Amino acid sequence: MLKHQICLVTGASRGIGHAIAVALGRQGATIIGTSTSQKGANYIGESLNNNDINGFGVVMDVTEKQSIDTTVHDVIATHGTPSVLVNNAGITRDGLLMRMKDTDWDVVIDTNLKSVYRLCKALLRPMMKARFGRIINISSVVGAIGNAGQSNYCASKSGLLGFTMSLAREVAARNITVNAVAPGFIDTDMTRNLEQTQKQQLLSQIPLGRLGTADDVAQAVVFLASPMANYVTGSTLHVNGGMLMA
Ligand code: NAP
Repeated sequence: MLKHQICLVTGASRGIGHAIAVALGRQGATIIGTSTSQKGANYIGESLNNNDINGFGVVMDVTEKQSIDTTVHDVIATHGTPSVLVNNAGITRDGLLMRMKDTDWDVVIDTNLKSVYRLCKALLRPMMKARFGRIINISSVVGAIGNAGQSNYCASKSGLLGFTMSLAREVAARNITVNAVAPGFIDTDMTRNLEQTQKQQLLSQIPLGRLGTADDVAQAVVFLASPMANYVTGSTLHVNGGMLMA
């Protein structure tokens, strides 16, 4: 379904980003997956290879403009313009606002939100020239409903939704769609450290009665990247086991 597509997936070394990279690759796309470490980039390459997927891992830090510009330049020079950009890299630095450090606010906004501005800016011109693009931003259910102890993270994830709709309006005429996927609570490194009582409390709010898997999210991304979603833009696809309506 995605033959001849080149997909750039940020934060593809583990969790949701890794599942997205593999799921897009299984549809025939060439994958460029990023990690902040060489070890992570190597793992991405090996893992794509083991799944018979064309592609490789690169070291890139989404908080550094220079790192993004170099990666985008190299990818375009060697493989052509990515037709699909998945902005997945993200972090948490949780804490009540009363006790939150400025650095915890800044690093979360920089990594989760400003990164998306940087990557879209770097890729927009070549995508416009190609008159095709699929941009998919990974937000979160808490960006829609908030969560105590995550004001920095929720602000970044809500910000992504406004960004997604605005950019969708700006580039629609060039056949570039911009959508968001908002996962609920997904079983990855990010949620693995939750205490048992917190987990029980969470599960009671999820009608489907389980945490999501990284692949549950990846399938939503595949849909938005595929021709099946050609007429979908400025949307948020919620993948949360029903917790938004709970
Ligand atoms: P994860 O397992 O912690 O993985 C995070 C990924 O982001 C890693 O590949 C990491 O790369 C990369 N990353 C972190 N900082 C980066 C930076 N400065 N530059 C480039 N890459 C960076 O997280 P996850 O749970 O899969 O989450 C993926 C996305 O889904 C995030 O945006 C998260 O907010 C969102 N999300 C997650 C959940 C959930 O329940 N897990 C729910 C809603 C939304 P390296 O460590 O290899 O450098």
